Amino acid sequence: MLYTSLYVHVPFCRGKCSYCAFYSLGESSSDERRAYLERLEQELRRGARNCGPLRSVFFGGGTPSALTVAELSRLAELVKDCFSLAPDCEWTMEANPESLDEEKISLLAAHGVNRLSFGVQSFSPLLRRTIGRRGSPERLGELLKAARRHGIRRFNLDFIYAIPGQTLADWEADLRQAVALGPTHVSTYALTIEEGTRLAGQASPPSDDVFVDMWDIAEAVLGAAGFRRYEISNFALAGEECRHNVEVWQGGTYLGCGPAAVSFDGAGRAANPSNMEAWLNGVPSVRETLPAPEQAAEILAFGMRQVAGWRWSEFRRRTGYDALQLRGAALARLAGRSLLTCDDQGARPTRLGLLFNDDVVMELL
Ligand code: SF4
Repeated sequence: MLYTSLYVHVPFCRGKCSYCAFYSLGESSSDERRAYLERLEQELRRGARNCGPLRSVFFGGGTPSALTVAELSRLAELVKDCFSLAPDCEWTMEANPESLDEEKISLLAAHGVNRLSFGVQSFSPLLRRTIGRRGSPERLGELLKAARRHGIRRFNLDFIYAIPGQTLADWEADLRQAVALGPTHVSTYALTIEEGTRLAGQASPPSDDVFVDMWDIAEAVLGAAGFRRYEISNFALAGEECRHNVEVWQGGTYLGCGPAAVSFDGAGRAANPSNMEAWLNGVPSVRETLPAPEQAAEILAFGMRQVAGWRWSEFRRRTGYDALQLRGAALARLAGRSLLTCDDQGARPTRLGLLFNDDVVMELL
């Protein structure tokens, strides 16, 4: 099967946040970044042989905007040289306000980047310190204006909530400030304190009740501004959903390049080593395939992250399976627990099913 989306993992950051569980390097030299781009070129050229016209390209990380203008230019040129992009291709780059400027924005826009996703996390200096987030989002408004001047009109702002010490009022203030900037998409991730991160053992998250109140505040504040929750953590204005992520949740194929990147070809996943040196030295990706019915069940489960759930006709088109024959009993049990509603047209998670998505996934796998 041909890949229809491309994900490029850019593993460089300026410093390491205390909660970060992504594969990224807090500092890097220009030699390391040159070696990365050289190896990436080989991977992109090889992967491009198995790609159709791309419906989405996503530069994630790490912090892609931490690359210099010349490095970003090389990366964007490589993508354009190796792949054919569909005319309406969504091309997103993740950025941090402190490492982006108008020169980079103008270059990205000229190459076809049409969506920017900013890591804000919180506007509160105190909460930013709690999660060890460097820099400041104070230039964000200016950067959005610059991007609009260069023709980029689609913006995501990423936030984290349920930060130790964060009050409901703090969270509401972050959301109101976000809305005032005029994004088209807002992601709200509950902080998970993962083992091995610097935050683990240092702080405890708020109670479940506070977590649910924060979930509801996001829906109220963003809903009043025209945003609709379309996935557990993601809100968008009408038509502004992130195509790349929707494809991933619905079992679409994607090629992942760079250290720690994962590819999915419809039959299985292949994960690149989460180690720069191993990846530079050509250590191959580790491939995991599931028997076809289990793969289809996994796609069924992932799709239940979306508020719209699945239409069975779409699920059959994507996987070739009839969901009710495949997992009818599990779907009925979930409906019995009020975690989703299900009929012969499709199924969708309830509010409870979104809040307890792990239970839905476990039942369906
Ligand atoms: S900027 Fe993102 S990827 Fe980089 S250290 Fe912070 S959380 Fe991790």
